[in-house]
Amino acid sequence: MGIAENIAQVRLKIARAARRSGRDPREITLVAVSKTVGLETVAEAMAQGLTHFGENRAHELKWKQEHFPDAFWHMIGRLQTNKVKQVVGSAVLIHSLDRWSLAEEMNKRGSLLNTPVSALLQVSLAGEKQKAGVLASDIDQFLQSVGQLQWLRIEGLMTMAPLSEDSEKSRPIFKELCAIYRCYKRKTYQNVDMRHLSMGMSQDFEVAIEEGATIVRVGTALFGEHKR
Ligand SMILES: *Cc1c(COP(=O)(O)O)cnc(C)c1O
Repeated sequence: MGIAENIAQVRLKIARAARRSGRDPREITLVAVSKTVGLETVAEAMAQGLTHFGENRAHELKWKQEHFPDAFWHMIGRLQTNKVKQVVGSAVLIHSLDRWSLAEEMNKRGSLLNTPVSALLQVSLAGEKQKAGVLASDIDQFLQSVGQLQWLRIEGLMTMAPLSEDSEKSRPIFKELCAIYRCYKRKTYQNVDMRHLSMGMSQDFEVAIEEGATIVRVGTALFGEHKR
């Protein structure tokens, strides 16, 4: 199948999953993970109407953003502190805020460029200790401290489920993150506005939507298996 067919398929699955769970498909943003593909493929995807793209390497995000400044670029991969400067000003949203030192660096770069930096807090849930992220028990403290960082905006939560062939294995993790998201949505913190829940990849985006995702990050299902 070509990219146009893949995009149509993914859109259809998103719409069906939304309707199954009584949601409006327009609540869900598809971030096309373009980390394995070149500029021509991004252009092809844009011609099909995709506007949000995800990258996991800072320099590649910056490079593609410069070629396609009209698209929205999301940083989804682990971010080294010394790469923050490449991403602030290029990325519309950084999904992978997973430690306090990174929050401080984002705030510093935002202050230098006079631009607020929007990020999602990456949460590491029980049973996936090897994954980057803040523990659920540390979220409250983190969000309280964000009040000190005037250029940072926390706009939601993100998680990654372990790789699995069986999408149902992700369901309890997505359920748990959504419950945490709803809990923090009801609370008030300075510089925090909980409105995005980023979860679900090619393997499990339909389950993620059923469990409340507002952003899904899909690569392989759109672009196929690529080697870098
Ligand atoms: C690569 C990647 C994705 C997309 O994965 P696919 O299985 O190709 O859909 C989503 N989120 C993150 C953080 C990734 O690194």
